[in-house]
Amino acid sequence: MGDAGVTWAGTHAFGAARLVEAASVDDVLRAVRTAPGRVKALGTRHSFNDIADTDGTLITVTGIEEQPLIDLTSPAWPTVNAPAGMRYGVLGRWLQKRGWALHNTGSLPHISVAGATATGTHGSGARNGCQSTALCRIEYVGADGNLHTARAGQPGFEGLAVGLGAYGVITEVTLSIQPTYDIRQDVYTGMPWEHLLSETPAILADAYSVSIFTTWTEPTVQQIWRKSGIGLDVAPPDEWHGAVRSPESDARLVDGDPDALTPQGGKPGPWNERLPHFRLTHVPSNGAEIQSEYFVPMEVAGEALAAVRALGERITPHLLVSELRAVAADDLWLSGAYGRDTLAIHFTWERSPEPVRALLPEIERALEPFDARPHWGKWHSFDAAAIARVHPRIGDARDLFERLDPAGRFVNDYLLRVGARQAR
Ligand SMILES: Cc1cc2nc3c(=O)[nH]c(=O)nc-3n(C[C@H](O)[C@H](O)[C@H](O)COP(=O)(O)OP(=O)(O)OC[C@H]3O[C@@H](n4cnc5c(N)ncnc54)[C@H](O)[C@@H]3O)c2cc1C
Repeated sequence: MGDAGVTWAGTHAFGAARLVEAASVDDVLRAVRTAPGRVKALGTRHSFNDIADTDGTLITVTGIEEQPLIDLTSPAWPTVNAPAGMRYGVLGRWLQKRGWALHNTGSLPHISVAGATATGTHGSGARNGCQSTALCRIEYVGADGNLHTARAGQPGFEGLAVGLGAYGVITEVTLSIQPTYDIRQDVYTGMPWEHLLSETPAILADAYSVSIFTTWTEPTVQQIWRKSGIGLDVAPPDEWHGAVRSPESDARLVDGDPDALTPQGGKPGPWNERLPHFRLTHVPSNGAEIQSEYFVPMEVAGEALAAVRALGERITPHLLVSELRAVAADDLWLSGAYGRDTLAIHFTWERSPEPVRALLPEIERALEPFDARPHWGKWHSFDAAAIARVHPRIGDARDLFERLDPAGRFVNDYLLRVGARQAR
């Protein structure tokens, strides 16, 4: 192990020899120009595998603390410029204070914008694209040691938006924003599994953002968190798809401090305090977990869930909880939702590496008929051939990264393993 520590959950020890904590863009330029050998950007360490690692120098931009800037030059297309290492929760709070919002968030507000968008991090919502779909501009330090700008609409931008840290260190991003909105979060219990299997797309499309929690073997689905937009969705009914609304918050899913959850029980509040599952001011759990996630076309949701459920007795002993979410189709080459409305099947495992490592290929075999794609930042066992079968634009992305970084400075073992960069 080098000096760079471990991932947030302790699931990977970084092998990097050095870590540069940049406080300015100049620091990043200097680090890329002078570091010997390979370099790679590190975000807030919330990935679970070696995607962010390098055998050379890690560079993090989470210490660049410039103020965001709202741009209303084009009133129909408001945007915000933000430092790339800013955490979603901090940016969300800043936007909310000024009456603005992002279209969605992931479950955790502590994750950096650049690191999240680099892996196609998503929340839920049948009409909500992943976080990377909000990107309109990326400023990055490339392999040549210079600052570059890429804009949505330019050729190849769709390859850079979910870029796996494979071509540079992003220092600033511009994101689409919209006027702020309120959300209420209601918890439902008691939905029969058979109903879920036959109605998954409808359930996930029934409110702004819906998250279904299960341990696969329980007789009725454990909990559903229905996050509805005030004035955007119909008010939540007391009974819904065979499930019943809890009047209060229901924190049974949380390992640790139940106050870590954003308010439930139907209490309306701003988007940035309801769409993430966890509060910015709290640590969600002690991090003793491993995560995996697979993306399948929404049109085969029921069959894919049934295939995983058939493994339920093998899965449950090692599982903390699974979460099912919707992600709208997009055109970002390496997004889990590229070209297809998507069901995301997520697993939070106990931190028991050996049984989890043994189980993943079984789950992946069960999901193979549905062309499941893995979440780039979570544990999976896909190699380059398996990725090529499910990611039709991986070759285009690899060619783009190779063109931008012909000497392979941003190459790491993970990118080689999944075929996003080429061996040299
Ligand atoms: C508790 C928890 C909850 C999570 N919830 C969700 C969720 O709701 N939805 C979801 O989809 N995922 C979720 N994730 C996964 C997480 O969002 C992704 O793994 C994400 O990529 C982590 O971002 P990070 O800032 O920690 O980046 P890191 O893990 O540090 O790095 C991830 C990738 O981003 C690249 N990168 C980081 N910074 C930069 C930069 N400045 N320039 C270029 N590339 C960069 C790295 O090189 C690497 O390839 C969760 C993870 C945890 C631990």
